[in-house]
Amino acid sequence: MRLIFLGPPGAGKGTQARMLAAEHGIPQIATGDMLREALAQKTPLGLEAKAYMDRGALVPDEVVIGLVAERFGRPDALSGFLLDGFPRTVAQAEALDRLLKEREIGIDRVIFFEVSEGELLRRLTGRRVCRGCGALYHMVSSPPGTAGRCDRCGGELYQRDDDNEATVRGRLSVYRTQTVPLLDYYRGRNLLVSVAGEGPMNDIARSIRQAVAAARGR
Ligand code: ADP
Ligand code: ZN
Repeated sequence: MRLIFLGPPGAGKGTQARMLAAEHGIPQIATGDMLREALAQKTPLGLEAKAYMDRGALVPDEVVIGLVAERFGRPDALSGFLLDGFPRTVAQAEALDRLLKEREIGIDRVIFFEVSEGELLRRLTGRRVCRGCGALYHMVSSPPGTAGRCDRCGGELYQRDDDNEATVRGRLSVYRTQTVPLLDYYRGRNLLVSVAGEGPMNDIARSIRQAVAAARGR
């Protein structure tokens, strides 16, 4: 199973990707998480990426393409993968096509998460992340049992540097100009399926499973 989750920041890709990848026993390849990890470890790549991420800009294509290429080389990616947050530009999609071609494999489905801008803004500015396990919370719609602490591991919850309102607005505009063209790119290849990214989590998870099952049956 080889899948791409495509959608604006705050669409819920990460939450759903985590569940689906675990269910299928495939790795979730999330470039945002990989970049934040590199930053936490203070690698040169992480430090270079930080300036872009803090401003809400995209990290240069060569950097993320290099990360994904390297990740593809690990044995667990052989059985399949779920790309979450990559590709985000047409140049990245083209690079991905080349990587897949080298391996003589293809993508089964691109799942596009549809969410209104007002909802995205609400979700991102209220989002909190666990430092320990990466679990996601929302101050209003899914707060932890104890303020500031993760229900799963007791870790500290923090707000990402790029989740303040001004930066979120910037990220949404970057999404519109750089990532939206990918919809046509994948529509033209007959891979795109839209799912409603608003509503109860279980309903969203069900629509995704249906889209994935349809791809399998092809
Ligand atoms: P979100 O989807 O909520 O914006 P991510 O964790 O996917 O969050 O990404 C956070 C930041 O990491 C982005 O704003 C961008 O700076 C950088 N990033 C992640 N993936 C990519 C990518 N494929 N290309 C360029 N930059 C990326
Ligand atoms: Zn935790």
